[in-house]
Amino acid sequence: MKKDKILVIGACGQIGVELTLALRKMYGDTNVVASDLREEHDLLKGTGPYVSLDVMNKEMLHVLVIRHNITQVYLLAAILSATGEKNPLLAWHINMQSLLNVLDIAKEENLDKVYWPSSIAVFGPNSPAQDTPQHTIIEPTTIYGISKFAGERWCEYYNHRFGVDVRSLRYPGLISYKSAPGGGTTDYAIEIFHEAKEHQQYTSFLSENTYLPMMYMPDAIRATIELMEADAAKINVRSAYNLSAMSFSPKEIGEEIKKHIPGFTMAYAPDYRQEIADGWPNSIDDTQARQDWGWKPEYDLARMTEDMLKNI
Ligand code: NAD
Repeated sequence: MKKDKILVIGACGQIGVELTLALRKMYGDTNVVASDLREEHDLLKGTGPYVSLDVMNKEMLHVLVIRHNITQVYLLAAILSATGEKNPLLAWHINMQSLLNVLDIAKEENLDKVYWPSSIAVFGPNSPAQDTPQHTIIEPTTIYGISKFAGERWCEYYNHRFGVDVRSLRYPGLISYKSAPGGGTTDYAIEIFHEAKEHQQYTSFLSENTYLPMMYMPDAIRATIELMEADAAKINVRSAYNLSAMSFSPKEIGEEIKKHIPGFTMAYAPDYRQEIADGWPNSIDDTQARQDWGWKPEYDLARMTEDMLKNI
């Protein structure tokens, strides 16, 4: 029987660090190879193999996959929404070519599985904003959303055309404390905790009533692993699954923090990220993920806030 050997690309990012550590617990430290452009993250040091990799270099990636007998790839390297708007062509190039490199090597080397995350950014101002369905109008307006939507079509294409077992989730904004966020529009919901603890004050770059779908990192890691562990026959969506846990505004998260830090105050100074947020859903309908592979979130705003403030 073939043993699972996993490559995580973008392992030093906000999701990558926690996902790598979770996968090492499940599959054994030496069976999960972490890789990134950056230097190894402190939390990964001493926990398993680390290689430096530029995913844009297909040859280098191919050699790595063969040399380490890789059977599964988790591709997390990307340019995120807010950073992407500063250099749209670069974001398109990196987000698309990295995925095409991985999908093509998965096809050539007959890999068992590939994971690549999409985002709620695939939706745009013409999508229904409330409980946005799995299948609906998808007209993204950011380059990040456009690249994620195109990526979803490529995933489905490689699955249908070549049988590559690629799986994907449309993550909402992810909140965590272990590894810093990488330039997304929902990063305010992380900054707010640091500022609340250090200065009892936070100025939000989104307006007070901007509702966005959000999720606490432990739920996101569990969702990712549960999707990847599910029987292939249950995976009916080969583009990317809607995934949901909670939805709140800057004002609401501020009020929740105030329950723990009574002196906490908030101000609002919306910047260019407001326009990005305005084009995204307020909340997501993830019925299909719940039905197909049993998804269920554990953290709501209150439980997440308590845990963040305890751990930051
Ligand atoms: P991040 O920016 O924190 O991490 C990405 C990592 O990829 C970084 O460590 C970076 O050094 C690495 N990287 C960049 N270019 C690379 C290259 N050419 N070769 C190798 N590594 C490279 O991002 P994240 O928040 O961990 O997001 C991971 C994935 O999840 C991305 O696809 C992102 O679009 C998606 N996602 C994230 C969120 C969120 O809220 N964090 C929400 C929706 C979707």
